[in-house]
Amino acid sequence: MDSDEDVYMVESDSDDGYPEDEILSFEDLESEMKASISEIQDVIEGSTDICRLLLQKYKWNKDFMLDRFYESPDTLAFLIDANIVPKQSAVFSKGDVECQICCMDGDLSGLACNHLACDDCWKAYLTEKIKEKQSEIECMTSNCKLLMKDEQVKKYLADSAAIASFRKILVNSYVKVNSSLRWCPAENCEKAVKVHQPSESRLLICSCGTRFCFTCGNEGHEPIDCCYLKLWLKRCMDDSETFNWINANTKDCPKCSAPIEKNGGCNYMRCENTRCRYEFCWMCFGSWKNEGAHSCNTFKEKKTENSSRDKSRVSLERYLFYYNRYAGHRKSLELEEKLKERVELKMNEMQKQSMTWVEVQFLPKAVEVLSECRHTLMFTYAFAFYLKKNNSSIIFEENQKDLEQSTEQLSGFLERDLDNEDLVTLKVKVQDKYRYVEQRRKALLDHCAEGKEQNVWVFNE
Ligand SMILES: [Zn+2]
Ligand SMILES: [Zn+2]
Ligand SMILES: [Zn+2]
Ligand SMILES: [Zn+2]
Ligand SMILES: [Zn+2]
Ligand SMILES: [Zn+2]
Repeated sequence: MDSDEDVYMVESDSDDGYPEDEILSFEDLESEMKASISEIQDVIEGSTDICRLLLQKYKWNKDFMLDRFYESPDTLAFLIDANIVPKQSAVFSKGDVECQICCMDGDLSGLACNHLACDDCWKAYLTEKIKEKQSEIECMTSNCKLLMKDEQVKKYLADSAAIASFRKILVNSYVKVNSSLRWCPAENCEKAVKVHQPSESRLLICSCGTRFCFTCGNEGHEPIDCCYLKLWLKRCMDDSETFNWINANTKDCPKCSAPIEKNGGCNYMRCENTRCRYEFCWMCFGSWKNEGAHSCNTFKEKKTENSSRDKSRVSLERYLFYYNRYAGHRKSLELEEKLKERVELKMNEMQKQSMTWVEVQFLPKAVEVLSECRHTLMFTYAFAFYLKKNNSSIIFEENQKDLEQSTEQLSGFLERDLDNEDLVTLKVKVQDKYRYVEQRRKALLDHCAEGKEQNVWVFNE
């Protein structure tokens, strides 16, 4: 058995010298905030609440805030400027016992500005502000900009659910202004990813498995840029009828018209009709004789007359060509979910036979690589749709072809050979293939990134 040196290798972004991304929980974020607050507390000597408001005002940029602080004539002036201490307080006579808001008699209280109200009015006001998700809440009296301290907010709210919402608002406002933090977009996942190497359209991976774009928050979409992805998704949305056709699981055999159902992600198909047995590609219906050698990733424009009708037909055909492949890989990705269970069973079986846990890890790894490649392939078709032909685009299409061919081969190994191959051969085959596919994927993405740096890509629209 060969060595399993890559089994323990954690996926790493650090080969370029940057530390890896960190995944932060809600509590981690709160303690990061607290740490920043106590750092400035040493200088400002104010309460936690005051320092939280100051940092919020300066978008949690400590250095910038401290520079402003040192420029200020004194602490009081600095706090007045930040609306944390009132410029002047309203005159309050002992006789005032009526709430200015609801005009009822009762115990009144308020902030240092002496704008007083009853507890019920404060509570109603704050509940409204929490609904509006405000992280800086001003005094209730209009034109009074004095900010409420967190402790005051909590005291008046006096309700644990509302206080929890307020804490969420505070943490959220911290994440929102922090250029290295991004919330995971998955529902019910309250984690944020901290990025040490912010760059456009970079792929982030949360501990819940969600992969998303650093810039636009959509699912990871390398190599296409966020702005073209937006255009692409809009176009796809406007075109759901085509989607239904492409997304169908059953098509007719192009040779004998027998219906053929697609059960797995692999796009190599063979007609079940024993008198036909036609081997073809699910994407283009073209013949697929020797497994692996088929390619159909390039759109070939037919010669047309110059009428505008012809032009719009060609442009539709072109769009459908790319859309078909984009949606096709998405569909495969969906169908390959089933592979995870099959692989799980296979791993148990192999461990019962002769292999150790470590030795069978090549299987889940292969499934992971397969879905990564499907993902990348999807977006290469959106990328190619906007791409104008030039020398670099031809290299791109070559890379895309290699990646697609080898991905289909890996998919074929996992779908068809899992049960018919002896374990040692299966392992060697699958491992060699996924390593190769991974290389192809990296080569394609590197080429796209380099092209971007050197401005070689020309896009339509
Ligand atoms: Zn009142
Ligand atoms: Zn006030
Ligand atoms: Zn997540
Ligand atoms: Zn994006
Ligand atoms: Zn057939
Ligand atoms: Zn094809």
